[in-house]
Amino acid sequence: MSGDILLEIKGLRATAGKTEILKGLDLVVRRGETHAIMGPNGAGKSTLSQVIAGHPGYTITEGEILLKGKNMLEMEPEVRSREGVFVAFQYPVEIPGLANNYFLRTALNEHRKHKGLPELDGGAFLKLVKEKMKLVHMDPALISRSLNDGFSGGQKKRNEVLQMLLLEPEFALLDETDSGLDIDALRDCAEGVNTLRSPERGFVVVTHYQRLLDYIQPDFVHVLYKGRIIHSGGKELALELEEKGYEWLTAGVQ
Ligand code: ADP
Ligand code: MG
Repeated sequence: MSGDILLEIKGLRATAGKTEILKGLDLVVRRGETHAIMGPNGAGKSTLSQVIAGHPGYTITEGEILLKGKNMLEMEPEVRSREGVFVAFQYPVEIPGLANNYFLRTALNEHRKHKGLPELDGGAFLKLVKEKMKLVHMDPALISRSLNDGFSGGQKKRNEVLQMLLLEPEFALLDETDSGLDIDALRDCAEGVNTLRSPERGFVVVTHYQRLLDYIQPDFVHVLYKGRIIHSGGKELALELEEKGYEWLTAGVQ
């Protein structure tokens, strides 16, 4: 049974410069639900991720995004984060000189402060982060390195999932968290998501591959094409797409 609406996207249109990328996108994610978004390259999946995170490079020209009924587009990125939104990007940024543990602890303590919880000191944080790292089979040495700097693809994606496990968002979108991962990393990242799944939370996973959805079983699968959701179904739709491709749905779509 699904809960109340966590995220509601209505008629969203977004541009980057003069190019319109999202062209009237609708999506409703209720608490307890996991949605998969699939679709060909260039459809606008990562743009949607950026827009939800609040990337300043995109302009919303029409439509709205409501987070728990509140206008999310008016919220600064850090407010969205504190309000429980988490986005794992397709290409996580590398920041040489910013220690991973400092970055993660600062983010977590910001959230804790906002919730009226005491901040964690270095020792308490290290204990917590090591616990979470075990869940995603992440090498503890990575916590003292610079953020994503020289991390392998699998290490970066595990680090994104680690951040998510620490922040415990209510709504999380993961953009191609599976791309370029070997089967162990894929399973670990999926396990991280499954650990957080609960009747209070909602997830969107953007993926090209059915194999991720073997681990993270979605309630709904959507096809994003030319900036719009053009088709939706249950988890069996992903299998159908794997078999038939997108052509049968995209043919004739303007
Ligand atoms: P997907 O993630 O589905 O592959 P994207 O959202 O990355 O698609 O891109 C959708 C389209 O928008 C592509 O044609 C891409 O080149 C274009 N696009 C994305 N971001 C920008 C930008 N900042 N400036 C210009 N075009 C962009
Ligand atoms: Mg993309």
